[in-house]
Amino acid sequence: MSLQNPVFIPGPTNMPDAIRKACDLPTIDHRSPAFARLFRPAVEGVRRVLRMAGGEVIVLPATGTGGWEAAVTNTLSPGDHVLAARYGMFSQRWIDLCRRHGLQVEVLETPWGQGAPADRIEAALRADTGGRIKAVLATHNETATGVRSDIAGIRGAMDRAGHGALLFVDGVSSIASMPFEMAEWGVDIAVAGSQKGFMLPAGLAILGVSDKALAAMETARLPRCYFDFRDMLKAYAAGGYPYTPAAGLIAGLARSVEMLEDEGLPAVYARHARLAEGVRRAVAGWGLRPCAATPDLCSDTVTAVVVPPGCNGTDLVALAARKYGVAFGVGLGEVAGKVFRIGHLGMLTEVLVLSGLATAEMCMADLGWPVQLGSGVAAAQEFYRGSVPGMALAAE
Ligand SMILES: *Cc1c(COP(=O)(O)O)cnc(C)c1O
Repeated sequence: MSLQNPVFIPGPTNMPDAIRKACDLPTIDHRSPAFARLFRPAVEGVRRVLRMAGGEVIVLPATGTGGWEAAVTNTLSPGDHVLAARYGMFSQRWIDLCRRHGLQVEVLETPWGQGAPADRIEAALRADTGGRIKAVLATHNETATGVRSDIAGIRGAMDRAGHGALLFVDGVSSIASMPFEMAEWGVDIAVAGSQKGFMLPAGLAILGVSDKALAAMETARLPRCYFDFRDMLKAYAAGGYPYTPAAGLIAGLARSVEMLEDEGLPAVYARHARLAEGVRRAVAGWGLRPCAATPDLCSDTVTAVVVPPGCNGTDLVALAARKYGVAFGVGLGEVAGKVFRIGHLGMLTEVLVLSGLATAEMCMADLGWPVQLGSGVAAAQEFYRGSVPGMALAAE
């Protein structure tokens, strides 16, 4: 791997220098007012990024996986039923985590390449006349397949079924890169991680928790200690933290939100949509297709490219790393070998994405895949030439 090249994996993402510097703090006493001064802007910033109304932001020393665990253990009890669709490796892992905590997971098997099926969620909730299902889990952006799910559509399904379950959303690879509307979509817990859209090192699980989820916390009986929201909230109220916080990462989080808001969240989302569209044009230029079944399902943060017959996506990823010092993502689980993934989230620009597309093309040619050098790059170039807002325009 070359430390000069950007990475094209869907997390951890490339880190802007300003954020790396912001993480570099002298030791601070977390029981002093200095910590509260650091922490408050980070928490308030996350609240704006998630578009919360009410509720609380919880920042844990963990990664996204710890965020999943915190969400379920703080709100559910042993034997509770949860409803989840399985359509990729990340939705699968959250289901597995729930089972290991003694929850009864009702799984809606969904082809990989599809998103969470709102109609089947509605039917399952209607059938649950006894109200056994306590939570619906949804992975907003399935990072394994590059598929986005319609969270507003799932909220609509839950409302039509008249079901009172909580709605938990894994937004680890979407939040801060794709529009997210926690309050409007009626999300009860949103889970994010520091190392994706927030462009930080790994190490923080970042959660938005609704008032309804906070009420569930009072009666939940799953064992929890390190991730107990009650301890967190008690300490926050006193301007502190229940144990030693990752102060550097928290300082970086405040800086990250500042950068996102300086660019403007709508502009951040538009940039991700533009970068993603260029990647999709390149994929079409190669004569290939994304794993996402239909264009409306295509993620703006990661594209899983289905490789030509007889080719292996893992070979491309290995060659890109070994020969060119560039990281792409391998296929996971059911699509191992069948896809390679291009991450296009975080601090990337059109120019950087073009370098990734050019590298992928060189690897395909090196491996003897039936791809014409330049075919994808040119398609992306044409698109970016016509869509980039331009630096002068941005400065006006
Ligand atoms: C990265 C990711 C996670 C969490 O992974 P960690 O390695 O624990 O941070 C969870 N869900 C999705 C959709 C992801 O992309």
